[in-house]
Amino acid sequence: MSARDVESFERCLEAYGIESAEEARAVRVGEKETSEQAAVVARYADLFTREQLAVLRAAEEAAAEDDRESVARLRLTCQDGLVTLELAEREDELENALLAARVPWDGDELPLRSAHARLAVEPDYARRAALGAAALEVSTRFNDDRRSLLADRHELDSEITGIADPVARNEAEKGVTLRPILDAVDRARVESTSRFTSERERWLDRLLGPEREETPSSAHMAWVRRLSPLESTYTKERSIGVCLATLERIGFDLEAEQGIRTDLEDRPQKSPRACVIASDPPRVVHLITRAQGGLHDYEAFLHEAGHALHYAGCDASLPLAFRSLSRDHALTEIYSFLFDSISCEPGWHVEHFGLSDADARENAAAARFSNTILFRRYSAKLGFELDFWSRFPVDGGTPDGYEERLTAATGIRYLAANHLADTDAGFYSADYLRAWIRAAQVRSHLRGEVGDDWWRRVETGAFLRDLFREGTRPTTEELAGRIGYEPLDTAALVDELTAV
Ligand SMILES: [Zn+2]
Repeated sequence: MSARDVESFERCLEAYGIESAEEARAVRVGEKETSEQAAVVARYADLFTREQLAVLRAAEEAAAEDDRESVARLRLTCQDGLVTLELAEREDELENALLAARVPWDGDELPLRSAHARLAVEPDYARRAALGAAALEVSTRFNDDRRSLLADRHELDSEITGIADPVARNEAEKGVTLRPILDAVDRARVESTSRFTSERERWLDRLLGPEREETPSSAHMAWVRRLSPLESTYTKERSIGVCLATLERIGFDLEAEQGIRTDLEDRPQKSPRACVIASDPPRVVHLITRAQGGLHDYEAFLHEAGHALHYAGCDASLPLAFRSLSRDHALTEIYSFLFDSISCEPGWHVEHFGLSDADARENAAAARFSNTILFRRYSAKLGFELDFWSRFPVDGGTPDGYEERLTAATGIRYLAANHLADTDAGFYSADYLRAWIRAAQVRSHLRGEVGDDWWRRVETGAFLRDLFREGTRPTTEELAGRIGYEPLDTAALVDELTAV
C-alpha cells in the first residue's frame, strides 16, 4: 500500500488518536482489566510505516514556513507510532502484569494500584512505611522488564531518527536544550533551600508526628502531599463544589463546558493519580480524579481542570496538530499549575472554608510546602534523568545517583529500586519544570495586571481564554516573551519559594 498524503494522514491519525486515547482511558479508570493498545495500533498500522515517514519528512522540508510546524508534529507522531507499533504488545504485557500484581497486606492482597492509593490514607506511620516497602518490593520485580523495554525503545528511536544520543534526540523533539533548564532550576532550588529546610522540619513534625525518622521514606509522600491532618477542613465531600465555585470566580463554568466529561468515581483499579485525557479536543476531553479527602483533592481537581479547560477551549477550526498534538507538555502544564496554585492563596481558604486569617495563612503555607517539595523532587529527577540517559547507550540504565539526588533535594528517602517506576517517558520532568518557572512568571504578570486577588477575578479567565483558543500551538518560551520574561528567568519563582 502506498503512503498517504499529508491531509489523508492527518484525517486517519485523528481517528487513531481517538481510539487509542479511549483505550488508555478505560484502563486508567479501571473500567477494563487489561490493556489492548497493541490491537488499536495494529488496526492503524499503515499510518506508521517508514514509507509514510519519508513522505512526511519530504512534506515538512517543502512546507512554507507557516505550515512547517504542523507537518513537523505529524511527522513526530508518525515517528513515535513506528516505535509503538513494534513495542505495543510488550508494553501491554507489562501494563497488564502491573494491573494483575498483588501486594500482600493484612493477611490479604491488594492490587498494586490500590496499595499506592492506600498510602495516602493510612494514618499509622509504621503501617505506611511497611505498606510502602511491600508495594516497592512487588513493583521492583518488574524492573528488568521496564529496563529491557527502555533499551529496545532506545534502539528503535536511534535507528529511526538517526540520533544515537537519547538526550540530543529528546532536545530535537522538544526544540529546547535541557541542561540550561536543569541549571536554572538547580539554582532556584539552592537559593531557596534555607527557607525550605525550616518549613520542612515544621511540616514534617506536624504531618508525620513525633515518631517520624529524621529522613522519612517516600512511602509517606502521598500522606504528606495530601496534608492529611487538615482533612477535617478539606473534606472529600466538599471538594467538587468548592473547586467549581473557585473556577466560577475566574470566569469558567466547568459544568457548562460542552467538551468536558468528568469521571470522579471510585473504582479499585482506578489509578490514584488524577489526569486529563483529551481524546478529541475541543469536543471530547476527559477529566479524571479519584478523591480521597484532604487538600490534595482540591489541588488535583484544579490542576486537571486547568488542562481540561485548555483542551476544551481550543478553536475547533485549528488543525489536528494544534488541537491535540504537541512536542511536549510544557505549555498545558502552565495552566494546570496556575489553577492548582490557587490553594497557596490565603484568601482562598478564608473565602471557601471560613477560616480565620491566621489559620488561612497557615494552611496556605502548608499548600506551598507541598508544592515546594514537589518542585525540589522534580529538579532532582531531571538531574538524575539527564545522567541516566547520557550513560544509557554505554551502561544500559543504572540507578546511580537517583537515591542520593532525590533524598538530598527533598529530605525524603527515595530508594534506588524505585528509579524506573518513577521515570516518566520523554523527560516529562523538564516539561513540568519549564511550567513551574512559567506559572510563577504568569502569576507575577497577573498580580501586576489584574491584582493580588487574580485568583478570584474574571479578568484572569479572560486572559486565559485567549490563550486556550490557540490550543497547543504556542511554545511555553513564546508565552514568556509575550508577558515580558526571558524563558529561564526564575526570579518570580524564587520570590515565591522564599516568601515568608
Ligand atoms: Zn498536569
